[in-house]
Amino acid sequence: MTYTSWFKEHARKHKIIIDKLVAKNYTKEQIIEYFDFDNMVAEENNFCLLYKDNEKCHDMEKLNCYLCACPNFRFDDKGIKKVGKNTQFSFCDINHKDGSQDVYSTRIHQNCSKCDVPHKLSYIKKHFDLDWSKAMKQCIL
Ligand code: SF4
Repeated sequence: MTYTSWFKEHARKHKIIIDKLVAKNYTKEQIIEYFDFDNMVAEENNFCLLYKDNEKCHDMEKLNCYLCACPNFRFDDKGIKKVGKNTQFSFCDINHKDGSQDVYSTRIHQNCSKCDVPHKLSYIKKHFDLDWSKAMKQCIL
């Protein structure tokens, strides 16, 4: 699966949930709370592949899924630049200390597995947008 196809599919699934919650007059705070990992596993089991095994992507007690992936993520499926013999496909725009650039064969990808920035409530409240695609609009290069 490419970054682009994942993004399009995730935006579609996110919007379906948002439309449902807005129709029920949920407030911003209620919507964010709805995206709490435990609630999402129970209510929206098809939203993420990890939900089926009740598995968190990050080891956090209170993990929120509203801004998965992350507004700081940048990608281009065609490749961003050559780095020696390798090609970079993604990076972190703020070069967060918990992220890393990992090489898979000749492909360089941003590894966010140790970074919990977009899953924290304070970050989500600050970067909240009902339209997930707008919140992520800078990710696609
Ligand atoms: S390293 Fe952290 S802040 Fe940077 S893109 Fe990944 S999750 Fe976002």
